Amino acid sequence: MQNTPEIPIRVRFAPSPTGDLHVGGVRTALFNYLYARHNGGKFLLRIEDTDRERSTLPAIQVILDGLKWMGIEPDEEVVYQSHRIERHKEAALEIVRSGLGYPCFCNPDELTAKREAARAAGKQFKYDRTCLRLYASEIEAKKAAGIPWAVRVRVPDEDLRFQDGVHGEVKIQGSDLEDFVLLRGDGTPTYMLAVVVDDIDMGVTYVIRGDDHLLNTPKQILIYKALKSPVPEFAHLPLILGTDKKKLSKRVGTTSIMAFKEMGYLPETMTNFLGLLGWSPGDDRNVISLAEMTELFSIDGINPSGAVFDEQKLRWLNGQYLSLKSWADVREAVMGLMDKVLLEGGLQAAPTDDYLPIAWDLIKSRITLLSDLFGSAAYMFKDPAKYDEKGAKKHFGVSAEGTDRNVCRTVADRLTTLAADFGGLETFKHDALEEIVRKRAEEWGVSGGALIHPLRLSVSGTTVGPGLFELLEVLGRETVVRRIRTAMRWVQAGN
Ligand code: GLU
Repeated sequence: MQNTPEIPIRVRFAPSPTGDLHVGGVRTALFNYLYARHNGGKFLLRIEDTDRERSTLPAIQVILDGLKWMGIEPDEEVVYQSHRIERHKEAALEIVRSGLGYPCFCNPDELTAKREAARAAGKQFKYDRTCLRLYASEIEAKKAAGIPWAVRVRVPDEDLRFQDGVHGEVKIQGSDLEDFVLLRGDGTPTYMLAVVVDDIDMGVTYVIRGDDHLLNTPKQILIYKALKSPVPEFAHLPLILGTDKKKLSKRVGTTSIMAFKEMGYLPETMTNFLGLLGWSPGDDRNVISLAEMTELFSIDGINPSGAVFDEQKLRWLNGQYLSLKSWADVREAVMGLMDKVLLEGGLQAAPTDDYLPIAWDLIKSRITLLSDLFGSAAYMFKDPAKYDEKGAKKHFGVSAEGTDRNVCRTVADRLTTLAADFGGLETFKHDALEEIVRKRAEEWGVSGGALIHPLRLSVSGTTVGPGLFELLEVLGRETVVRRIRTAMRWVQAGN
């Protein structure tokens, strides 16, 4: 017996370019990519741009840019559905010839009016198969009279079932469906037809897409059968939910993938995070590379219930990846951000090239977004404009509810002395800085913390950050002394 040649594995991502590319779409693309890579198959991209009014070029560009940024580009040339309309029409006629499809001459406006009337009355409208009952001679006569005609599928009354890779057996009752349209009277294909014809022609073997298409699949299987084409496998990905297990917030759900880039997320954060959104490699790890996911991916690992999008976790994960980056890795992205900050007047001057790599190494494990460099960690680049309120009360004795003059005086005396000490140090290195602070603490009979906390607040405006002595060394003598003096003037003024 001859062996049947193996059918090459091919999957596709088929977005409609009618809006931005959001996290849901990117996750679908990613799962297709992982499935292809894991199985030595091909990952394809088809832009479903048949809706000429709603499809836009910028939306297509975002899809291409977004996939490129994520590192999940298609293996073959992009297919544009709008270029294939003639092929869709041919297929519709073939379906009529097969006996499953039939021409429908009913006026679409009248049908729409009936549908709306039924909806208003709270009833379900189903096409009444007027045209299924036409004799061949009537059909010919109507065609000859030039009445525009659509193509409908005759949906059988039986159960329509298929095996879904995620949800198991899915079944709908054929008698609940109406005979749906494949080709409109104006010759344009519907989604239902175009998607099947294109998947057949692209040799797609596994359709992996969002749950919103689950109930389209039994209908599409009818089309495959009418076209005598092998039916691919199907897997429908669960919805992405918010942390309250309800619908994902509009804010997150409608955020473009490129906006995540602009916010300072890294592509590896997004692949890692979206990859684990509804799929698990069988353990509870949170950090996983694209290569590891590729190695471990299987449709069996997809959870049929909704996947929760936890923004906090996304930020945390980004922090994990940022902490592994060298300055060279992030230089370009940081410079781009900095130009924007400079332009908006958020910094007086660009930090020097000597300073930036050292500052990065000190701060990278303390931030979760690149933009934090100019936000919560902006003290790396500019003098604090204000001091954390709680910190000022605790460490400076300054509070809106009443300033403690004694605390103010003491802290100002001590820090002014330290500023002078720092000014006189031979080398401005963290160990020398620590030594002097510890010595003074002992001399004044206070804990190290009693000096470290107000020092930190003076130089950074905040109460958290990297090790103080390392921070002082990186900031440099001039900046440190200036910031302490400014802070102590503020304290003495009893603000
Ligand atoms: N173009 C459809 C959409 O964006 C997807 C079609 C499919 O994956 O079958 O929802």
